[in-house]
This record gives sequence, structure tokens and C-alpha cells, in this order.
Amino acid sequence: MYKSLVSGINTLVPLFNGIKVPYINFDNAATTPAFSSVLYGINNFSPYYSSVHRGTGYKSVVSSHFYDNARNIVLDFIKADPNNYTAIFVKNTTEAINKLSFRLMDEIKNGIVLSTHMEHHSNDLPWRYRYNVDYVEVNTKGRLSLNHLEHLLKKNQGKVKLVAVTGASNVTGYINPIHKIAKLAHKYGSKILVDGAQLIPHHSVDIKAVNDLAHIDYIVFSGHKMYAPFGTGVLIAPKNIFESGFSDHIGGGTVDLVTSDDVIWAPPPEKEEAGTPNLFGVVALIESIQTLKKLGMEKVVEYERRLTRYTLEKMKTIPNIILYDDEDIENKVSIISFNIDGLYHGTVATALSLEGGIGVRNGCFCAQPYVQKLLHISKEDIEKYKENRDMLRPGTVRISYGLYNDFKEINIMIELLKQIGNNIDYYHNKYRNPPFYSK
Ligand code: PMP
Repeated sequence: MYKSLVSGINTLVPLFNGIKVPYINFDNAATTPAFSSVLYGINNFSPYYSSVHRGTGYKSVVSSHFYDNARNIVLDFIKADPNNYTAIFVKNTTEAINKLSFRLMDEIKNGIVLSTHMEHHSNDLPWRYRYNVDYVEVNTKGRLSLNHLEHLLKKNQGKVKLVAVTGASNVTGYINPIHKIAKLAHKYGSKILVDGAQLIPHHSVDIKAVNDLAHIDYIVFSGHKMYAPFGTGVLIAPKNIFESGFSDHIGGGTVDLVTSDDVIWAPPPEKEEAGTPNLFGVVALIESIQTLKKLGMEKVVEYERRLTRYTLEKMKTIPNIILYDDEDIENKVSIISFNIDGLYHGTVATALSLEGGIGVRNGCFCAQPYVQKLLHISKEDIEKYKENRDMLRPGTVRISYGLYNDFKEINIMIELLKQIGNNIDYYHNKYRNPPFYSK
């Protein structure tokens, strides 16, 4: 339906037998292809491309104006009030969270950060190594326990300064009820950060007015997961948190006045963006936002949900399939994790690539504690993996759709998975040493 919107759709890739087939990209949770409109936008802007905030020439003025105005377009996309919030451009979600974890040093100090057992490492490690962190549990199906969240908030009343939670899991696609979580966090005096890396490209988000208990304090996301490569991510935060102190990176662009013995910092957001900004990254992001808005996020959600529902129904007929996240499709983005009983996840992923030209990811997807929970890996087994780091580790195979994927592609994958599920020994022997395993 939306196939023509993205670039690279007809790329041919070689199979094991040497025949070339059109690539089927089911790894959109890692990175999406670029919207053609994004590439067109970059080309269109290039005659005016120049320095941002660093020149008086016409092109520089056009570039600076585009860049400054882009913040409002991004804020508007998630309904953030520009009087309270600012959009800071960074490299990606990981950089945004690292920056925030540095900037909240005074606010959190000896307080507690609540992360969860379903986070990507990027929304766990920056907190874990700076602050006292506790983790909200997930149930056996991998859903976040709101009861446990409230228990931790109550138990540590007054001490929890931040709840850092993913908007949608990059392993199961489960969407968290971010506004319910926000209400709970605020009720107990905490703020909330939403990792929007998997949510923003697949769902409409309204972060709500700050006087609403359900509002989101901080949200972060990456352009490259929403059809906008070129290296831009966003940190959206209340302006006032940047008033005191200074950024994790300092230098050109972050200051108002510098003498040989004094510095007066620029106001946010400039204060937080050291060095020459990535203008093309921002051009790409804005084009992508405009395209998504034109399509309508509700339509995108509805279409991707149909893809997911169809896939899960078909997958249930595959011999030896193990599904981890086949419930409650209404509260899920288009990500499916599975295994084929008796086959290593890397073998299945390699067979999909070399027999079908289908790109997926396998392993633990930078969310190792979550996958360990989902697969019910015992503490003893985890100790074994620590001792012998060459051992093949458990994980899953992940399919993740973008709005341009279609039912025909899904049918190709389902047929291949049926063959794999029916011929475990054959595929085990053929691909027992896959070339690449990711963690
Ligand atoms: N959070 C989630 C939920 C993700 O899926 C990812 C990317 N896999 C990240 C954070 C990190 O994003 P980036 O690599 O763009 O920094």
C-alpha cells in the first residue's frame, strides 16, 4: 500500500544458490529505509545548505532559520507546548538519554531512578552507572507490572526522581500505558522519561499539557527508525531543566560570552548543542514528520496492526513455532519475536536471509535482561554464559514491520518458515555456523 514511499524497495540480493531476489526488509526496528520524500527534501535543500548560526550570508540565514523552525515542527508532532518544552537535536536516542542522565545530576543526586526489566540497554545503562536504580518487573508474558511500579513508588516515596520507561518494547512490540505510568509517577512526586525509539515511528503521541497529571516530562527518539537517516535524534524536555549547570559537551555554540576567566552560557536549547549542528539530519527528520503527518498516524497504526495480526495468525500454523508476544495486538507495535523449537535463532535468521532474501534480526536486541526474562533463563545458566562468553546464547528471531511492508512479503516469509519448521535437521546442518550473531 505504501511501498512506493521508501527508497531501495527493488534492491536485489543474492540467495545461497546464487539467484538474486528483491530484498524483504523485516528489520525496521533496527533502522528503516529512507522515505523517498526525505531524499528528495535533502536534494531540494542542498542548494541552500550552509552553516547554522555561524554566518551572515543568505544561505546561512536560510539554513539557520530552517534549523530553528524545525524545533517547533518536532514539538508540534507530539503536541508539546513550545512555551514549556524544547527540542534538542542529538545523534540518536542513546545520546539523548545519556545527555539527560548527565543533566539530571542535581535533580536526582542520591535519589532513585526506576527503570524496568523491558528496557533497551540505552534506557538502562546510563541510569545504572550514575544513580541508584531499581527495576519494575514484567510478568511471564513480558508485560510491565503496573502493580509493581506502584509498589516501588510507594516503598520509596519521595525518593524516586525519575521513572525511565520505554514507550514500546523493541523485542515484543508491547506498548506501555505511558500516561497511566505518568500519572502514577507524578502522584508519587517523580518525573517520567519515555524512550520513544519504537513508539514515535508507529504511533501518534500526545505528551499532554504540564498541568495534566498524565503528561510526559521527557521523551526521546531517533530519526533513523522513522525513515529519516542522516544521524539525528531528539531529546524533548522542559526548558527550565537546562537553566542551571552546563551541558555534557561544551564548546562552540553553547555560550553567550567567554572571557579568559569567565563563561556565560547561551540559553537552552543552544547551550545543549555543542559544535556545528547536523542540518541535513534535521532536514531529513522534518521531511519524515511531514510525510507521516500527511499519511495520518492513525492510518499507519491501523495498517501495521493488520500486518501484525495477519502474521501472527499465519505463524500459529508453522510447525515447531514458539511465539512470545501473540496476545493483545491492539497494544503492540509491529514487532514479533519467535523461535523455531530445535533450531538456534541465528540459524533461522540466516536461513531467512539466504533462502528468502529476508532481513530480520536475532539475538537479544540490546535488551538482554528482558530476553532472559521472556525465555525464563535461570540465574545458574546466566552464570554459565558469564563464565564462557563464547557459548551460543539464547535469544529470539525478530520480525519488525514498517508501513511500506506488505502481505505478499509476509506470505513469502510464512512459506519459508513452514519449510524450515518442517525440516529442522536439514536447516540445522546447512546453517549451523551462521556468519553473524548479534547481541
Ligand atoms: N531504545 C529502544 C527501545 C530501541 O529500540 C533502540 C534501538 N534499537 C534504542 C533505544 C537506541 O536507539 P539508537 O540506536 O538510535 O540510539
